[in-house]
Amino acid sequence: MGFARGHHTGLWMILGSLFVTLFLAAGCGRNDAMAESGSTVDAPDAAISAAVTILSPISVTLTATPLATNRAEPAVATQPATATAKATPSATVTTADVSLTALLPTPTPTATPLPTPAYAPTPDGEIRTLRVPVLMYHYLSVPPADADIYRLDLSVPPDLFAEHLDRLLAEGYTTISPYDLAEALQRGAELPEKPILITFDDGYRDNYENAFPLLRERRMQATIFVVTDFIDEERPAYLTWGMAREMLANQIAIESHGRNHAGLAEKDDDYLVWQALGSLETIEHELGVRPRFVSYPAGEYDQRTIDVFRSAGYWAGFTTEQGTEQTNAAPFELERIRVRNTTTADELIRLLSLDW
Ligand SMILES: [Zn+2]
Repeated sequence: MGFARGHHTGLWMILGSLFVTLFLAAGCGRNDAMAESGSTVDAPDAAISAAVTILSPISVTLTATPLATNRAEPAVATQPATATAKATPSATVTTADVSLTALLPTPTPTATPLPTPAYAPTPDGEIRTLRVPVLMYHYLSVPPADADIYRLDLSVPPDLFAEHLDRLLAEGYTTISPYDLAEALQRGAELPEKPILITFDDGYRDNYENAFPLLRERRMQATIFVVTDFIDEERPAYLTWGMAREMLANQIAIESHGRNHAGLAEKDDDYLVWQALGSLETIEHELGVRPRFVSYPAGEYDQRTIDVFRSAGYWAGFTTEQGTEQTNAAPFELERIRVRNTTTADELIRLLSLDW
């Protein structure tokens, strides 16, 4: 790393070795090597900065180059890093733990992130239609006393949600991720016998406070479609990125519900790109993984919406169309079942048994 660091010598020694290093570096044109060796880290060091300034005009180029390289890095270099970000944390932990395992009595596996394939499943050309129910929740809390009819309808109290989950488990359902569904539709990957998706629209904070603990203690998966501007604005009713990060590490997929919850039908390409790419890049920047699924705000979309989201790298879209039949002939028109404040566990099972 730093060429002056670690030497407990006098200033003359530092300046001497610095001069030699700079001289060699300049002579051999090793600007890149210096940047990689982390000399930028040492740049703030007053002694070195001063020496660099005094030494020669060449050194100006030397300091400028690493800084510029460094600044350019996040935009370019985070791409490959984030593509595998889900695997990276656990991989790092594993590697680090190799030497520690002998010393630590019980290495605790903490987070279990969902496996996220880096690339879209290549369709094998076969059209598949699968019966996979996708439940659609919104608020997961007791609605406030003054709740209007919409808020009331969209709110499922935590106790009722727990009943839903227990009943689903009792009936033999297994929660899957949208990635599992995409693999099954596009490549025929096998699904559990009674697969089901649990989804939440809007990304309310009560999803983290109330739904997440209930899901986690039952080891069930879910998907939350977030409105990225609302999180960026730190609106108190919505998730924070920290909450999203924690949930992502524990079987909850965080996907896109657009930037600001505006309807996506009858909009021009520029606007749709802003919604599609904007929300995608924000989620990728904040969470280190690229979202691949959209839930259309208010269920509004048209063919142009689908085209833009597909070209932005999304794999599928969830509508508010009621139903349970999903087909890769129309992966951007996946159907869901709306769960209401009044949906009892019995009613939920009845909805699941309907031939939509
Ligand atoms: Zn919504």
